[in-house]
Amino acid sequence: MKNDYNKPLPIPQPESDKFWNGLKKKEIWVQKCSSTNQYQFYPRTHCIFHNQNDIEWVKVSGDSTLFTYAIVYQAPMHSFLDDVPYVNALVKLNEGPIIPSNIVDIEPDPSNFKIGMKLKPVFVNVNKNFTLLKFRPA
Ligand SMILES: [Zn+2]
Repeated sequence: MKNDYNKPLPIPQPESDKFWNGLKKKEIWVQKCSSTNQYQFYPRTHCIFHNQNDIEWVKVSGDSTLFTYAIVYQAPMHSFLDDVPYVNALVKLNEGPIIPSNIVDIEPDPSNFKIGMKLKPVFVNVNKNFTLLKFRPA
């Protein structure tokens, strides 16, 4: 797989294909336990609550809130030099699971952020193989 995007990309695993393929169609698919309806992220082959295969995939809207965040001022790799400062965040989907992501379309200044602020998904096509899930203020 040619990576014409100059940053590291996820390495697809069979259990996460539905997540990554969904993002290409601007859809967010997450797993939940079919016994207790508890959600989990990242995708796994088994339910993290019961260590069984009682999982199902459900499509969610991506409506979410800011769980926590950090403004990155120091590029972790050369390929991120043009991006700093940028925002890493943990985003809590309304259904419950927490997703590591970035907050975009906002000036990366602490005065612009509030824990619990409402967020919407942004689908960023980085190449023909990958669409990344990021978030912006709602
Ligand atoms: Zn379960």
